Amino acid sequence: MTNFARLNQAMGLQRSSASSKQKVQPMTGVVKNDENSGDLSLASITSDLHDISNPNKPIPSDLAYNSWVVEHPSALGSFDRMMKAAKWKRIVVFLDYDGTLSPIVDDPDRAFMSDEMRAAVREVAKYFPTAVISGRSRDKVKEFVQLSNVYYAGSHGMDIMVPPRPLRPCDANNHTTASAMDIKGSDVLFQPAKRFLPAIQEIRTLLEEITRKVEGARVEDNRFCISVHFRKVREEDYGMLEEKVKSVVGKYPEFHLTLGKKVLEIRPSIEWNKGHALEYLLDTLGFSNSSDVLPLYIGDDRTDEDAFKVIRSRGQGFPIIVSSTPKEDTKACYSLHDPSEVLTFLLRLARWRKASSSSRSLAQIWCVGSNLPRSV
Ligand SMILES: [Mg+2]
Repeated sequence: MTNFARLNQAMGLQRSSASSKQKVQPMTGVVKNDENSGDLSLASITSDLHDISNPNKPIPSDLAYNSWVVEHPSALGSFDRMMKAAKWKRIVVFLDYDGTLSPIVDDPDRAFMSDEMRAAVREVAKYFPTAVISGRSRDKVKEFVQLSNVYYAGSHGMDIMVPPRPLRPCDANNHTTASAMDIKGSDVLFQPAKRFLPAIQEIRTLLEEITRKVEGARVEDNRFCISVHFRKVREEDYGMLEEKVKSVVGKYPEFHLTLGKKVLEIRPSIEWNKGHALEYLLDTLGFSNSSDVLPLYIGDDRTDEDAFKVIRSRGQGFPIIVSSTPKEDTKACYSLHDPSEVLTFLLRLARWRKASSSSRSLAQIWCVGSNLPRSV
């Protein structure tokens, strides 16, 4: 097995099949999981392993998932408790795209979100400042989401479009920040990796050349990072593809290679990730110094862990991982099983705010900008 295949396996990249999805019942609450945890003794697991005559018995992977969910409770089951903590606070919503708002599909160009999901995100964005932070190019993710009331950050947060905010003294002193900003009409474009664009285009051309003969491989230009998708590549070709990609990245010391869900990504080695993007957006939207702001981030991939870490370091907020398999090393506190649970959660979130805000104005709820109302 190649290092690449080993890493792939270690990351638990296998997707749950429809049948295993049916086997794991949606969690209805933390209490239920705690109760279930009493059944997770080695004896009961062994007994389950041997009881093949009873098709209704959970399979071991379900048991492992249920055990993991005790530590990372379902955001649906924990909803009331979460919203109790959010009362009188301002929630700002951050959403990953692939595997969160859309299912993971073989063809990355066809990772469409459903109309129901779009309507749910639109509804959430009516009540909360909402941003989509994706590894895709900003234009691509905007094309998929098709909503005008959300903010977009592409290339893992290296390409952010936001409304302008008043220039502060620290901006003038921060050359990196100032040079990365660009005014586009009434919006501000923040691109901290802008200086790498010529090299990124060179890398893309080289990758297209070397992958041309690898059946199923596909190069995607995400503007500030390049993806090599291998979901449709034969497993025996993984090692060969990995070597080819490494040979290109090796020529560019300012770039590095990361592994996502059946995708290799080549990115500039700058200190900027989805966590920084979350902080930048909070700051730009006028929430940086608000102690009563609760960032809520939903994502399914390793790159989302940077955002989970930032929320943890802030000491308040809701980091939620989307996963149908246990992710032991996640920094998320809550979980959702799959995009269909994300949909249910978003609808519930919007409904909750609608109900609790009936006596308040929407302007107070949004509270974007420097003149934040005090009571929300
Ligand atoms: Mg994702």
